[in-house]
Amino acid sequence: MSAKTSVWLAFFCVFGCLIHDADLRSIQQRASQCGYQSCHPTKPNMLNVHLVAHTHDDVGWLKTVDQYYYGSETRIQKAGVQYIIDSVVEALLRDPEKRFIYVESAFFFKWWKEQKPKVQDAVKMLVEQGRLEFIGGAWSMNDEATTHYQSVIDQFSWGLRLLNDTFGECGRPRVGWQIDPFGHSREMASMFAQMGFDGMFFGRLDYQDKDERLMTKNAEMIWHGSANLGEEADLFSGALYNNYQAPDGFCFDILCNDQPIIDGKHSPDNNVKERIDTFLDFAKTQSQYYRTNNIIVTMGGDFTYQAAHVYYKNLDKLIRYANERQANGSNINLLYSTPSCYLKSLHDAGITWPSKSDDFFPYASDPHAYWTGYFTSRPTLKRFERDGNHFLQICKQLSALAPQKPEEFDPHLTFMRETLGIMQHHDAITGTEKEKVALDYAKRMSVAFRACGATTRNVLNQLTVQSKENVKDKSAKYVFEFKTCALLNITSCPVSEVNDRFALTLYNPLAHTVNEYVRIPVPEPNYKIIDNQGITLESQAVPIPQVLIDIKHRNSTAKYEIVFLATNIPPLGYRTYYVEKLDSSEGSTEGSTASRALPKRTSSVTVIGNSHIQLGFDTNGFLSEVTADGLTRLVSQDFLFYEGAVGNNAEFLNRSSGAYIFRPNEDKIHFATDQVEIEVYKGDLVHEVHQKFNNWISQVVRVYNKDSYAEFEWLVGPIPIDDGIGKEVITRFNSDIASDGIFRTDSNGREMIKRKINHRDTWSVKINEAVAGNYYPITTKIDLEDDTARMAILTDRAQGGSSLKDGSLELMVHRRLLKDDAFGVGEALNETEFGDGLIARGKHHLFFGKSTDREGVSLKGIERLTQLEKLLPTWKFFSNMEDYSADEWQTAFTNTFSGISLVLPKPVHLLTLEPWHENQLLVRFEHILENGEDASYSQPAQFNVRNVLSAFEVEGIRETTLDGNAWLDESRRLQFAPDPEEAAVNTYATFSQPAESVHLLSAEKPMLAVKYADEALPAGQLGAESNRIRRETDSQQDKKDEGRSSKATEGPYNSFKADSSNQEYIIELSPMEIRTFIVYLTPA
Ligand SMILES: [Zn+2]
Repeated sequence: MSAKTSVWLAFFCVFGCLIHDADLRSIQQRASQCGYQSCHPTKPNMLNVHLVAHTHDDVGWLKTVDQYYYGSETRIQKAGVQYIIDSVVEALLRDPEKRFIYVESAFFFKWWKEQKPKVQDAVKMLVEQGRLEFIGGAWSMNDEATTHYQSVIDQFSWGLRLLNDTFGECGRPRVGWQIDPFGHSREMASMFAQMGFDGMFFGRLDYQDKDERLMTKNAEMIWHGSANLGEEADLFSGALYNNYQAPDGFCFDILCNDQPIIDGKHSPDNNVKERIDTFLDFAKTQSQYYRTNNIIVTMGGDFTYQAAHVYYKNLDKLIRYANERQANGSNINLLYSTPSCYLKSLHDAGITWPSKSDDFFPYASDPHAYWTGYFTSRPTLKRFERDGNHFLQICKQLSALAPQKPEEFDPHLTFMRETLGIMQHHDAITGTEKEKVALDYAKRMSVAFRACGATTRNVLNQLTVQSKENVKDKSAKYVFEFKTCALLNITSCPVSEVNDRFALTLYNPLAHTVNEYVRIPVPEPNYKIIDNQGITLESQAVPIPQVLIDIKHRNSTAKYEIVFLATNIPPLGYRTYYVEKLDSSEGSTEGSTASRALPKRTSSVTVIGNSHIQLGFDTNGFLSEVTADGLTRLVSQDFLFYEGAVGNNAEFLNRSSGAYIFRPNEDKIHFATDQVEIEVYKGDLVHEVHQKFNNWISQVVRVYNKDSYAEFEWLVGPIPIDDGIGKEVITRFNSDIASDGIFRTDSNGREMIKRKINHRDTWSVKINEAVAGNYYPITTKIDLEDDTARMAILTDRAQGGSSLKDGSLELMVHRRLLKDDAFGVGEALNETEFGDGLIARGKHHLFFGKSTDREGVSLKGIERLTQLEKLLPTWKFFSNMEDYSADEWQTAFTNTFSGISLVLPKPVHLLTLEPWHENQLLVRFEHILENGEDASYSQPAQFNVRNVLSAFEVEGIRETTLDGNAWLDESRRLQFAPDPEEAAVNTYATFSQPAESVHLLSAEKPMLAVKYADEALPAGQLGAESNRIRRETDSQQDKKDEGRSSKATEGPYNSFKADSSNQEYIIELSPMEIRTFIVYLTPA
């Protein structure tokens, strides 16, 4: 963000000039000593200024990923990542004193693959000596508000794995580096901790919070990442003083305009004294706000170090001239450092630290800039990313389950992994990129879908067609298409529309048997659905709303959806259904089971639902009451829109609403309508109310006959702007629940966090934007309750949401704005498609009922289980069946399959099952409930892993950290001691004015016994760095492989394998626990 762009010096040394054999030999003789012991020493009696040379390389923002990498489109931004890594490596090779950190694995590995072995060796040497250090290390620096934990874990696992594969132990990052994301989630802290990170630094927090924390020396803290997991989710976290920029005037990059240090003895421009004075003043000032005699100063910014020596040359001078003053009594010591070396210094200071239990949302950068708009920006890209995660999991599972694994499976899966990794970037899923970049992301996603689609088609054909005996076209490469209908989001699917006979294969990615209501778009209402046992299923035809049919770019003949209930779909498996069009004379399923539309503008009250839940609609067509669990309460639902503020952004007061910022114009809000046109369809399987609010907002409210919740499928857009007003559209549910200003929102789809209107837990907030300042990110769920009743809404993508009045929940579904909000993107968030405003469609699931003493499973329990089924429903694969009758299909092919034999306990989710290294699986199990959410489901759950994975020949299994790249039993983290309860404020005097003198705290004696992990280990071991899953080098591997053709990694695991034959692999999970394993398979 906000790069200072200016002079572009075209200096790039011809790379490789430094890598001569002679240089390498002499340097390589130095022992490998990455990690904390590679840190430059600090001086105990001085203020140590840790200068961190770094570059912040967005994986797409104003330019696409490739434009950033190659450095094209310099008119948009002068940024070329390949030059950065080239020139940094060169600078590091010149001088062993220098340090650099690199963060974004997506870019690094693109560069790495282009390098010759000689360069790769040189880089390995730099990494082994701790001169080039990986920080963060995920595929991208993910957003924390709009991302789902499953995708965050995935993209860390992949980035860390490539680092591990390439550099081994020395490539493993120890510190999280979330310097640019727009606010920080508690779940992210929890995940960092569970991945074994020692700490994390970040840049952006509410400006009031930051002031308060600096003034009270609370900017570095122990963050309790989980309300369920205890200390294992604690993470030391530090707010950086100057975001991630260099101090004012000290950006020495070619992108900046700041003065270099001019030290010519007789030069009239000599500025050494002034420059050093200024820098030391900055250091003194910063040090007053932090607790130890160490401070971190970030020397870099967006895409800096494209000509690294320019920056480094000035840093060399800065360090030299500043430290020369020590001879004359200066007590400030500058050094090349890294975030982990800084963290180690904080740790070794042996002092205590404040604690925090809430999160850093919402982020405000000034009184009128609440970064709560991006929670919703680009709603369709946000949904596409969720679909991508869904299909990625299926691609992983089917790749693992495939009987035959052609070699293209790996690259297909990797492409999709990496695409989803890019999507998590804080300018991708957030919707804060330029329109062209958003289109590039979408294109990448669709290519990834095609790649993995080729894999799933292959595997499903292998599983379905076990013998070619009855196959009619024996020359065809594949018997069945197993097509994904990408346009089901507008209820369109060529296979089901064109063919009179087709098969629908439902693949279930959950480790539970599921039942699911399925909808298939078809041109006519009369179809027969036959399951794999030849039984004709009950079905119901429901008309597709006219507003959907009328969408201009919807090129489809489908006018109905056939609905049926698919039952007992096997875990990690599929069931296939044969669908056949009936002659119109064969009787209409529509006629028999569904009542036709009631007249529009019904004058009577309408009720839909079943014995679990009923929804009442008033005579104006609005939802008016809900009955469930024996409670009948007033619940209404409406669409409204805010007007986006328009200004010139010249000062706070003139801030516009934009891609990042939500700023409604004087909180002006408009109802979509006061009269909703409705049509009602009631059948045996589903009741639906089709609502039309106006020409651009409509909705289908439906209750399936066995569900205990209601589905609201909204359709919004094109948002009209011919009145010159940008609009931010919300759905709002009002109820008479006395919630007393309290509501709860999820953190990245996992634990719920309590929110209170106009309140923050850790400081007395002054909110200047009554609506935007109370918005929070909703990745999956928002809820509220009183002593009797509760109401919860599940979302199908990230959205902004709030409860602005008691009993009320609102979610922003779509926004279209006409002004840029001046945070760099330089475009208004005015999404169009096919020449018109973007249309978005999505679902909310409404839960309502007793808040306590409910019979059977608690509502919270049902919400959790449903949340999982909505996140990862069955995937619909369509195949043309014109060549096969239902009988032929049934006898010739395998129409049901399960990849596991033991269904997991209800609260346990098989979060990950993917092929890892050769003959290895990466497997994660997760307990999806929090403590106290349900009397029985919130209990620890136990099961036998071997039984779950009976489809595989398991040789051994070993537990790892959350990311799958380090052994859990070898993982050591730096421990930090919390402040004694009453100490925080007393120990560190608060002040309101920066003092003149350097306020140094003694770092000599620990206040509490702080144990460093090293102490407990035998001499010579690396302690915190020793937690690597060891990979053999090629030469070791070759020796072990003698006499074997397989490249299985076996040697180091012998100790484990010894007891594997007896082991029952029973594991237990507590609420919210995730456990990760490498599973060793018998080589084929
Ligand atoms: Zn960024």
